Amino acid sequence: MRIDLTAKVALVTGGSSGIGFAIAKQLTECGAAVAITGRTRDTIDSAASSIGGGCLPIVADVTQADEMDAAVQRIGETLGGLHIVVANAGVGANAPLGEIDDQKFEKVVGTNLKGVLNTVQSALPMLGHGASIVLMGSTGSFEAPSTMSVYGATKAGMRAFAKTWIKDIKGRGIRINVVSPGAIDTPSLRDALGSDGDSAIDALNERSPIGRIGTPEEVANVVAFFASDSASYINGEELYVDGGLKV
Ligand code: NDP
Repeated sequence: MRIDLTAKVALVTGGSSGIGFAIAKQLTECGAAVAITGRTRDTIDSAASSIGGGCLPIVADVTQADEMDAAVQRIGETLGGLHIVVANAGVGANAPLGEIDDQKFEKVVGTNLKGVLNTVQSALPMLGHGASIVLMGSTGSFEAPSTMSVYGATKAGMRAFAKTWIKDIKGRGIRINVVSPGAIDTPSLRDALGSDGDSAIDALNERSPIGRIGTPEEVANVVAFFASDSASYINGEELYVDGGLKV
């Protein structure tokens, strides 16, 4: 089965790095016209030029509803519509229970929950029958490592959002699914692991039933499938892309 996204327009939030970058590249290779968002002009422009295929870079912070409205309007004007939304932008913050302060809490909840809500609310008026929304979850939603409780709680929210939103928009022919990666080798994973990153990655490789952590491209393959008409009867589901290792 070849995934064909010809004539589709896609938005990937957080498309300048890691998993979002790989998703934007994969959707482009499958034939979609892709717009990526991020908060930094230089980073987003250089990512779009590496992705190629006319990828449209838009500076927009998912925590700001007005910026997401403007991003979607720009996509409509420039690319002629919107059919695929990948709410990928997400952040973590390490803090054990006693040290979760307002700043860390609001950063993680603001990006991972409110940011996803803003993205989907901004996109919804432009989405028609056959559109697909993919929310980026995490296996941390079941049992996050110590210090990652707020992150895990927000990612459990993706499951709750998808399961409920499909009822809220019943009859519109728009699917919403969650892709939940395990440990994937990206800048944010290496940041989270800190100075001892290489040996922490060795330990994850050792624990993994498949013998290694994942690549961003392995997540992108699954997102492309969910985004496509090949997944036309999959709705409100969550798929783990973790090689069998729930970290
Ligand atoms: P990266 O840090 O590599 O990339 C994050 C992207 O999100 C960047 O493009 C960043 O750009 C963007 N971003 C961050 N905050 C905002 C914001 N407020 N508004 C718009 N864009 C923003 O992360 P990953 O690729 O590792 O993670 C991507 C997603 O996958 C996240 O939701 C993460 O939780 C999830 N995930 C990752 C796993 C992993 O092991 N890597 C495992 C499970 C889930 P900029 O900073 O320039 O705005």
